[in-house]
Amino acid sequence: MSKRINYAEFGIVEPHARLKLLANYGNVSIDLNIPVRRYYRSGMEMVRMANVYLAENNLEDAYILYMKFMTLFIEKIKTHPEFKTVPAVTKQQNQAKLKEVMPVTEKLKEKLLARYEKEYTQFLANKEVERAREEAAAREKAKNSIPPPGSSSSGSTINFVPSAPNVELLDNIVYPNDFPTDPNRSSSTGLILPGEDKKPSGRPNFDRNLKPSSSSLLDGTLRTVVVPIDTMSSFLELAKANTLSNVETCGILAGRLAQNQLILTHMILPKQKGTSDSCNTMNEEEIFDVQDQHNLITLGWIHTHPSQTAFLSSVDLHTHCSYQMMMPEALAIVCAPKYQETGFFCLTPNYGLDYIAQCRQTGFHPHPNEPPLFMEAQHISLNDKLKIEVVDLRR
Ligand SMILES: [Zn+2]
Ligand SMILES: [Zn+2]
Repeated sequence: MSKRINYAEFGIVEPHARLKLLANYGNVSIDLNIPVRRYYRSGMEMVRMANVYLAENNLEDAYILYMKFMTLFIEKIKTHPEFKTVPAVTKQQNQAKLKEVMPVTEKLKEKLLARYEKEYTQFLANKEVERAREEAAAREKAKNSIPPPGSSSSGSTINFVPSAPNVELLDNIVYPNDFPTDPNRSSSTGLILPGEDKKPSGRPNFDRNLKPSSSSLLDGTLRTVVVPIDTMSSFLELAKANTLSNVETCGILAGRLAQNQLILTHMILPKQKGTSDSCNTMNEEEIFDVQDQHNLITLGWIHTHPSQTAFLSSVDLHTHCSYQMMMPEALAIVCAPKYQETGFFCLTPNYGLDYIAQCRQTGFHPHPNEPPLFMEAQHISLNDKLKIEVVDLRR
């Protein structure tokens, strides 16, 4: 959680070092318990998100995600024990994506470096002005504390003028307002999605203190997940027949990234097999196809507890773990119609996620109750204007 970088504390970092710090966020490690196919899925989603960040002119987050994608698929994925089982077609698609992403990342790197250099130069200039001002103030103070020797002091006062802080200089410095938008960007990268708003919005702000533009990936805060309020009622309606026969129903939650919010747009009900306390998805490829068609990012899952309250069982915790490892904002929505309860859950960001990721047990098994492994998600926003779109693959 607390991987906040405060550039001001560093006294703003030298441009290359700053870019290196950024690239470090793109580092990624492989968890052998997550199926290799899920990495390939997640990779596509990373690129999707990065493309949106790029389109919105959030260059730092775009760079982090492209770097993550490249690190994962140029080196790390080969260490996964299932790497050899990945179908050739998947590998080919992935290679094609890499080819697309590499030159874009290189270009992005140059742009960020240019921006950082501009900011650094300006930072040094500000610092110089500040130093001169302090020096002058100190001299002024010294002058006032020591009585002037004799009456010929008028000359020394004049001599002070050139080294006095030039306040106007501060205002004359050109502040890098933003990145100039490259009108050819969409065509040159080929990465802007069709139908996407090509106008950059939510432009990062630069203030005079040279704080870096806001980046959620950099400071580790969770992005808000916007949930259409009809998601739960639609789901319960679709689950009704199962619920009446005490059988669980589950669905995948997916959506898109916009202005740094994750908007839940689609609920996909896969072919599935449920019992009174479990639900397994089948034909996962069908889910992926739907997501590919609509350019959807996986945002979590939803399931019913037909006869129990809303909570996450030990099996649910393990199911959710792989969602949350891929997407820190992933939600587990539990609908418990019998108790008229709805839970919006996630694993506790550090302890719960680490604990479950390391737990090797399967099936229902006890976990310690304290400290809590899961919690009510705080990063959701229910929205009554948006409508969820349902894709029911069950029949
Ligand atoms: Zn459950
Ligand atoms: Zn466990």
